[in-house]
Amino acid sequence: MNVTDQMQQELQGLKERSNLRTLPALIHEGREVIAGGQRMLNLSSNDYLGLAADRTLREEFLQELTADSFLPTSSSSRLLTGNFTVYAELEQTLAQLFGTEAALVFNSGYHANTGILPAVSDTQTLILADKLVHASLIDGIRLSSAKCIRYRHNDLKQLERLLAENHAAYRQVIVVTESIFSMDGDTADLKELVRLKQMYENVLLYVDEAHAFGARGEQGLGCAEETGCIREIDFLVGTFGKAAASAGAYIVCRRTIREYLVNRMRTLIFTTALPPVNIAWTLFIVRRLGGFRERRIHLENISNILREALKEKGYECPSASYIVPMIVGKSSETIQKAEELQRHGFYALPVRPPTVSEGTSRIRFSLTAEIREEEVRKLVKYIK
Ligand SMILES: *Cc1c(COP(=O)(O)O)cnc(C)c1O
Repeated sequence: MNVTDQMQQELQGLKERSNLRTLPALIHEGREVIAGGQRMLNLSSNDYLGLAADRTLREEFLQELTADSFLPTSSSSRLLTGNFTVYAELEQTLAQLFGTEAALVFNSGYHANTGILPAVSDTQTLILADKLVHASLIDGIRLSSAKCIRYRHNDLKQLERLLAENHAAYRQVIVVTESIFSMDGDTADLKELVRLKQMYENVLLYVDEAHAFGARGEQGLGCAEETGCIREIDFLVGTFGKAAASAGAYIVCRRTIREYLVNRMRTLIFTTALPPVNIAWTLFIVRRLGGFRERRIHLENISNILREALKEKGYECPSASYIVPMIVGKSSETIQKAEELQRHGFYALPVRPPTVSEGTSRIRFSLTAEIREEEVRKLVKYIK
């Protein structure tokens, strides 16, 4: 059997288990998408604040642009000639907002998570990671020379035991978690994580706020702001591709950590920096984040309605955010239910293994501030 025959066979296997993936052809119109000729309300976007769907914001941004400031490429790594001044402006703004010594911007959350851990780890490092952390963090751990133990999802008692048993045998221990988890939409207890980390001098805390930045906290800075933990988190990472309606990622941290990353982080050093125009747009949004409080409150309100409705219908719902999974179980059944919602005009998507564990296929609703309360109530009526 030749190599592509083997691929074909594997793909066939995925198809038979209803786990074959394809790239959907979509036309976007604000908060709606058109797929297969049908117009639907997008319930699968990470545009939590509805900023990507907001045409007025883009118009306002365009007014600031000229042919001189519209720079679609950086033409180089930031360590060579790609470090345009707008990068420094964004990083200073972030450090100021968070009240940290420093900030550093990356090309994406994937770059951040696959770059930071390998850069700061050695063989004398132990990483203790939540069982459900994002694939980009798993890949970062794999690329590092650290030893890694995964603790049960949000089981901080187990984490406490692991820290007690292992901290003395390593130069440093890095605890890795998300603040809002991608698939269950539940949250980590950041205060308790900080308490645990502070029990030992050689423990560092790494928190990925990809789903929280922009949408949580009084100023929209994430769960770390909400819980008053910003300064206690050594590696506070977030992304711009979700609520901030842009692309890229950041870490806010101590000055030394920033300098170390600039010298050691391969996914920062060996890649062309994001286009300056993209950084300018991120800065435009970041400066306005504090002003989107009403959107955050509305988002919380409609999320509560959907979560309560799912519970009433007998679904177990771990969510504490606008990511609201409806856990069905079987992939085939999940696809059926998703298709039914799509027929009613709701673009909800099934999430299947290997993204989630076997037997927990689900429809993953991802609400945005552009969705109206009556639309959520209508959606609920079609959920069986
Ligand atoms: C989306 C996401 C990432 C990846 O960020 P990108 O900027 O899309 O590469 C990383 N971590 C988590 C938890 C995410 O949800």
